[in-house]
Amino acid sequence: SSIFAAVEMAPRDPILGLNEAFQADPRAEKVNLGVGVYYDDNGKIPLLAAVKAAEEQRLKLAPPRGYQPIEGAAAYNKAVQTLLFGTDSALLDAGRAVTIEALGGTGALKIGADFLNRLNSSAKVYISDPSWENHRALFEAAGFDVGAYPYYDAATRGVNFSAMLAALKGYAAGSIIVLHACCHNPTGADLTLEQWQQVVDTIRERDLVAFVDMAYQGFADGIEPDAAALRLFADSGLEFFVSSSFSKSFSLYGERVGALTIVTADRDASARVLSQVKRVIRTNYSNPPTHGGIVVATVLSDAGLRAQWEEELAGMRDRIRLMRTQLVERIAAAGVKQDFSFVVQQRGMFSFTGLTAAQVERMKQEYGIYAVSTGRICLAALNSKNIDTVAKAIASVIA
Ligand code: PMP
Repeated sequence: SSIFAAVEMAPRDPILGLNEAFQADPRAEKVNLGVGVYYDDNGKIPLLAAVKAAEEQRLKLAPPRGYQPIEGAAAYNKAVQTLLFGTDSALLDAGRAVTIEALGGTGALKIGADFLNRLNSSAKVYISDPSWENHRALFEAAGFDVGAYPYYDAATRGVNFSAMLAALKGYAAGSIIVLHACCHNPTGADLTLEQWQQVVDTIRERDLVAFVDMAYQGFADGIEPDAAALRLFADSGLEFFVSSSFSKSFSLYGERVGALTIVTADRDASARVLSQVKRVIRTNYSNPPTHGGIVVATVLSDAGLRAQWEEELAGMRDRIRLMRTQLVERIAAAGVKQDFSFVVQQRGMFSFTGLTAAQVERMKQEYGIYAVSTGRICLAALNSKNIDTVAKAIASVIA
């Protein structure tokens, strides 16, 4: 008999499954609001001019394709640290951070999770309720028991902060708390800086371990302001983990560019930690690919390219904001009395619209507009050509 006889069909990935259904839909005016990808006003994934210039530089140099170090390119790792902690960082000066290049934000989370599991496999991991759909599966695959702390409050469309804080206070020492640094996925609801400070204080008091996921730096208010929560952790003296993704901020999705940063107590601990994390990497994929990391490092270290990138990033941020205000205006113009202004308050690429699964299903059946059944839509998939259709569809299904 076949060695695969007992293999059952796995459930489809909820979001990638949505893409397949969208591709198969023959309607010309269909719209896919499901995926977390930034599209420009023409509905295309942009190739940033700063990225293109860095790629052209590299092509001209035609460097040989040797192996990278296990931890990736030093210039890249250093550039990532500066994005996270700023140019003037006591933490970095003290050698308290180690950064390794990872295969996207997902790869960074997985290397971090695997390393944490080697340190303490009986620790519990807590993610936000709700969270990015891969957080739970990823930490479970690393061997952890995963729970969720209260986060989103559908009634206020904000964060139920008192419930969140109370939950954190009840967790056992050593528990791992996964936090979204900014642009919470899927709700778009972020903590205020005062609330972040309380989270940092609670993590210290209860001996918890923070794992801060930074997948959208630059998509809320800008590179520096979006790192504000992280800087509170940096100032706290705590040890913590950070995963970075450049999939969105450099529009380099398929190049898989991310990084894992671990903040330790001192330079000696950093060296020991790095040596062990390298073992995790070596036995998984040996060393990261070259291209994406070099491109990002080139852009970040060249003043001209860096300025160009920041401008392009601001352009993406501003366009998403414009889509938020226009969607609210057009839903109102379509005769909806319900207040949708919360869409403008939410940050990042997503909005939790409050649409029910049944309403999302009607959007798909009647209008060819695809969204996640939780009511999450990606604002970056809206553009000047489809926004009216989407606003009218929303108005019609909630009527
Ligand atoms: N964390 C969060 C919160 C995300 O939304 C995503 C996906 N966009 C990731 C991590 C993974 O990023 P990447 O695509 O770079 O693996």
